[in-house]
Amino acid sequence: MTNSQGNGQQADSALFPTYARYPIALVKGEGSRLWDAEGKTYLDFMSGLAVTNLGHAPKQVRDRLVEQLDTLWHVSNLFHIPQQEEAAQLLVKHSCADAVFFCNSGAEANEAAIKLARRYQNLIAKTGRTEIITFHQSFHGRTLATLTATGQDKVKEGFAPLPTGFRYVPFNDKEALLAAITEQTGAIMLEMVQAEGGINMLNPDFAEQIVQCCEEHGLLLIVDEVQTGMGRTGRWFAHEHYGLSPDIITSAKGLGSGFPVGAMLAKAKLREAFGPGSHGSTFGGTPLAMAAVIGTLLAHEEEKLAERADEMGQYLMQELQSKLGALSVVKEIRGMGLLIGIECDMPVSGMLAAAQEAGLIFVTAGPNVIRLLPNLKVTKEEIDEAVQVLVHVLQQAEVTA
Ligand SMILES: *Cc1c(COP(=O)(O)O)cnc(C)c1O
Repeated sequence: MTNSQGNGQQADSALFPTYARYPIALVKGEGSRLWDAEGKTYLDFMSGLAVTNLGHAPKQVRDRLVEQLDTLWHVSNLFHIPQQEEAAQLLVKHSCADAVFFCNSGAEANEAAIKLARRYQNLIAKTGRTEIITFHQSFHGRTLATLTATGQDKVKEGFAPLPTGFRYVPFNDKEALLAAITEQTGAIMLEMVQAEGGINMLNPDFAEQIVQCCEEHGLLLIVDEVQTGMGRTGRWFAHEHYGLSPDIITSAKGLGSGFPVGAMLAKAKLREAFGPGSHGSTFGGTPLAMAAVIGTLLAHEEEKLAERADEMGQYLMQELQSKLGALSVVKEIRGMGLLIGIECDMPVSGMLAAAQEAGLIFVTAGPNVIRLLPNLKVTKEEIDEAVQVLVHVLQQAEVTA
């Protein structure tokens, strides 16, 4: 695209310059492939940031959406919405939760989780313990409460005054966690893999420590599965890898295969904390959004996509280790299922641009980490193709460093 400024924004744009955009406009997608306005094709190892987990335009979801488009788009949550019940039953079936609240994004799901935890501690458990512990490098969203929960200063810059009620602890630091728990603490909120924060994996012994703390002090465990959920890490939800049974789980990105929808899932004891009138959303759980969710969940069941992510993730990891592991630019390759980070000893923005030029799309996780998020139906051939481009791009970076 021409006429673009240094920040990736077109000079005559009518949009806020909130995103440093790549100089590409994508116009069509099918499976793992994307096409730009000039007809160039790309292999998509980003999936719209872990959203299009079934690939682009998956038929099962498309067919349900089209049928719903011809029937009913929106009513209001003042009516029963049978599709919401059906979608919730499916989510409950595949998680440790008993009740679901539908919203429209990850931030909204986390916002609901924060509200529910406070309300439970205030009105049901009547402990008054409302402070929530979150972790350095975490990411929980862009609303005022969720950016405050986020353990990264850059997300908060200029947005003061921020809400109170959060305390931050270094990730995987047991001593610091123990020291941070007070009479005020009511919940611990975390990601199983800090994705935006650099693909930082939760240590199993830290997970154990968290469970112990929750049991000992009556804390609620909130797991943000907005990016790690929906099969991404090789399980329906990433906390299953750790044997955790969270009180609250949040989901969004992959939940509607690209249709905007979020959900907060919680254990039965929390159900009564959100009575009529306590929380709501005009668009939360419309028949249209629920068609996307049901289509997505049924496709996951039918095609065993979590298992597939596990299998393909192992293959991708093995190929990356064997073909990239020895390069001097590569510090570490880590991840879970099809959420994989390649940490380099230099900024990776140049590699990202070179890969785009070569027809491979991925995203970063912080300045030095390449983040790979192929869809869960990715083939071995597509993985081979991506690894080949990565080898080329990283070798070039090594030569020019
Ligand atoms: C993307 C993300 C969010 C925010 O989701 P939005 O839909 O952008 O509001 C929250 N938590 C995690 C872990 C995420 O990856």
